[in-house]
Amino acid sequence: MDEAWLRQQIIDTALAMSGEGLSPGTSGNVSARWKEGMLITPTGMAYDDLIPEDIVFLEKNGEPLPGARKPSSEWRFHLSAYGARKDAGAVVHTHSRFATALACARKPIPAFHYMVAVAGGEDIPLADYATFGTRELADNVAATLKDRSACLMANHGQIACGATLEAALALAREVEALAAQYVAVCQLGEPHILDGEEMSRVLKRFESYGQRDGG
Ligand SMILES: [Zn+2]
Repeated sequence: MDEAWLRQQIIDTALAMSGEGLSPGTSGNVSARWKEGMLITPTGMAYDDLIPEDIVFLEKNGEPLPGARKPSSEWRFHLSAYGARKDAGAVVHTHSRFATALACARKPIPAFHYMVAVAGGEDIPLADYATFGTRELADNVAATLKDRSACLMANHGQIACGATLEAALALAREVEALAAQYVAVCQLGEPHILDGEEMSRVLKRFESYGQRDGG
């Protein structure tokens, strides 16, 4: 894989994320695993203005290269996500509307719909709150992503991992769709939650299909 190409892919993914309304303003950020570290969007720059050189490389200890731009203030939990998910090649973090609403109510997404299995388990869990940009938040996110590829983040938003940037963005999109559906169904009354036995069946089928589209 070519580094310049990957840098452009990160910009394209950030543009798609914000173009689709998945994260307001310059909130949200995108990264991809690169060498021992990662490439991540810089802080405080409009995605429209980004050129590949603006994307910041961080070593696995978070050290930037001399002369690089300042990385997103949220780089710590991107790095910890790669530590928790060896299968992750990319991470998309957004403040998408419904996922963020649930995260602020501190409600994880239970198995109200079988598609919650897209994140690899029987719910989409909620990482504990800590101040943005802190080591503590990075640890909370890593702990929650240990057995899921996406989670909500209390009073903050959501994070999704994928083998590729495309897959990470697709998962962030699905988490947002599920969050919107869950909010809607809660307005109708108490949702019916699928039990653990049924979700094990669903998860098994997801595995054997070898893809996330459960139909
Ligand atoms: Zn954020």
